[in-house]
Amino acid sequence: MQDFAALIRAVPDFPSPGVMFRDVTPLLADAGAFARCIDALAEPWQGSGVQAVGGIEARGFIFGAALAQKLHAGFVPLRKPGKLPPPVVSVDYQLEYGSDRLQAQRDALKPGERVLLVDDVLATGGTLAAARLLVEQLGAELVGASVVIELPGLQGRDRWRGDKPLHSLLRY
Ligand code: 5GP
Repeated sequence: MQDFAALIRAVPDFPSPGVMFRDVTPLLADAGAFARCIDALAEPWQGSGVQAVGGIEARGFIFGAALAQKLHAGFVPLRKPGKLPPPVVSVDYQLEYGSDRLQAQRDALKPGERVLLVDDVLATGGTLAAARLLVEQLGAELVGASVVIELPGLQGRDRWRGDKPLHSLLRY
């Protein structure tokens, strides 16, 4: 187990009853733990030629931007609808109740550019799968994905096509 795991707070019944929310803010507030977490996220991708890190709004921006620096790559925000100026590309995806949409700027990635996706948590996997479709729509080359926390009980990994690696640092 990574030592920074002790700084992830379990919050019962947030944001709705029955949900155990994993709060990463204490980890972010600790300089050493945050740095070790970024080192661990970067480790599998060293030397793999990542040119851009695609971070998923909102906490994926925090981990993704730091990871992009570590890997000497650029950073591309993948955002909730209405936040990015046009032209954008969009992917709709299903939530437990209803649906949501993820967007990227159309010129955010070049064809063939090597992209790593990053988020804080893999839960049902819908968000990461949508982010992957965005990268593919833009014609970039997906290298793989990394998340800090995987919740295996929600089977998010089943929604990730297994031809590209998906790494998680912690599993609850
Ligand atoms: P999924 O689409 O895999 O069901 O949900 C993943 C998205 O929801 C991620 O962008 C993540 O930030 C957020 N999320 C879901 N559950 C949690 C949680 O327990 N803690 C945090 N920090 N984020 C969560």
